[in-house]
Amino acid sequence: MTDLIRSWVETANRADCPFPLNNLPFGVFSAGDAPRCAVAIGDKVLDLAALQSAGLLPESGFHEPALNTFMGKGKGAWQDVRDKLTDLLRAGNETDAVRAALYDMADVAMHLPFQVTEYTDFYAGRQHAFNVGSLFRDPENALPPNWLHIPIGYNGRASTVVVTGTDFNRPMGQLKGPQDDAPSLGASRRLDIELEMGAVVGIPSAMGEQISVDEADDMIFGYVLLNDWSARDIQAWEYQPLGPFQSKAFATTIGCWVVTKMALDPFRCDAPKREKELLPHIKDTGPMLYDIDLSVTMAAPGGKPKIICETNYNTLYFSAAQQLAHHASSGCAMRTGDLLGSGTISGPEKGMFGSLLEMTWGGRDPLTLDGGETRTFLEDGDTLALHGHAQGDGYRIGFGPCVGTILPAKSTREGRP
Ligand code: CA
Repeated sequence: MTDLIRSWVETANRADCPFPLNNLPFGVFSAGDAPRCAVAIGDKVLDLAALQSAGLLPESGFHEPALNTFMGKGKGAWQDVRDKLTDLLRAGNETDAVRAALYDMADVAMHLPFQVTEYTDFYAGRQHAFNVGSLFRDPENALPPNWLHIPIGYNGRASTVVVTGTDFNRPMGQLKGPQDDAPSLGASRRLDIELEMGAVVGIPSAMGEQISVDEADDMIFGYVLLNDWSARDIQAWEYQPLGPFQSKAFATTIGCWVVTKMALDPFRCDAPKREKELLPHIKDTGPMLYDIDLSVTMAAPGGKPKIICETNYNTLYFSAAQQLAHHASSGCAMRTGDLLGSGTISGPEKGMFGSLLEMTWGGRDPLTLDGGETRTFLEDGDTLALHGHAQGDGYRIGFGPCVGTILPAKSTREGRP
């Protein structure tokens, strides 16, 4: 385990600061002007476009309102920029040029950190798959027969991936409960969250090209927190046989900071023991999961946030590198800005479940929130936040929160030309 690297930005040296010099997560910010690339350091945002203009960083597309150009450059360029930033921000190295490029985090707006070119969502949480299989089928046959062999996924919607703090309307959809004679169109009444991590692809792969797990790991630029909002009632009616469609197409929220693989390197850990030997294209080649503590807080309108889930990324069965290698195995091209959702991350016990569906066991056992309100699924005005950090010795690598508030359903086509 590495030690804290001290910075002249004093707030970065606090043990509970999510953004020490060891982290340097990348994002896109604006301060009443054009969005451009940044890193977080302490309680500040560092303007990378300004540093690039000053000749302190190589040409990396940092003036653009997305990280894609930089992400496409590969690990040599990523490491070079990280090394230069570490040097510029290290304790004792303070300069006027860098100080002038710092903004108070509280004063800036954060944007979607990269252009999401494609979005795929996987299902690699074993406890989640077991819980959902138990709820929808039966505990004896909870895991689908392919589950231990393939990282299962579906192609999601990049168009509705939004950055933390973006509120959205409760989805409308076609609903048909078990007691209903016919489907009806209405607002979802079983709106849920899914606690996930998103892997962000930096280096693309060509159509027809297969990639190894190690190559896939090298292609990944970093990770974000991801909430795969899910309408369970729409899902239950539509999902067979092609999987989720509109039930997950209306919003996916990601955090505003992409934590790089370089920052997470000291926290790598092995995947769980394999019950079935994996086929060669996705065989484990080393520790490729990460020890990242995750939690979810929920607040009713006007209420205080309450922790409703605490779990860890290391409980997943397949790593993002294995998912990516499998994704390309047919010849599917992967692109810079491809976002891969991990699947819901549920630990083995109640209190560690990453969706309300599991926490309330299908709506049977309501949760009690801070103000005494009870919930099975989300009500309008509820605010959900995902949190995550890897705990080092005297420092932590934080992701910043991933937050969304539910607005009432919008059933008319108001405002359309
Ligand atoms: Ca999901």
